[in-house]
Amino acid sequence: MYCRRCDELDLAVEQVAVAKDLIWRCINTYCSAEYEPLIMMPTYYKDYQDRIFKEVWEKAEESVALAKELYFIGYALPDADIHIRTMLLSALARSSNKIKIFVVDPDLQLEEHYHQFLGDRGQRFIQKKFSDFLETF
Ligand SMILES: [Zn+2]
Repeated sequence: MYCRRCDELDLAVEQVAVAKDLIWRCINTYCSAEYEPLIMMPTYYKDYQDRIFKEVWEKAEESVALAKELYFIGYALPDADIHIRTMLLSALARSSNKIKIFVVDPDLQLEEHYHQFLGDRGQRFIQKKFSDFLETF
């Protein structure tokens, strides 16, 4: 969530922000402005140079690099998602963890697709719908 007044991004909004009447408000001292959602529309042209989105990408990469497990659920990893692919490979390359990777999708063809992208990182493909996966998780 984004505070326009502070020009800051709060990525852990559910943990620290104050929701009153289902409106999330900035937690900075002397500010209680209403947070705004940031949405990147699904287009081929995405402006990742925007300071806020750049910050999101950097934090995403950092989170992936620090992760012990990664779950891709219902994500087809489209070839056009170059920025996500680049971010993932960069994070995996610099991570010192042996990250366990799980791909959850009913479409078995995605297993090979992910294998082509990730190589052999010991990823595990779970051929299930998300709701079925949740029952066993
Ligand atoms: Zn604020």
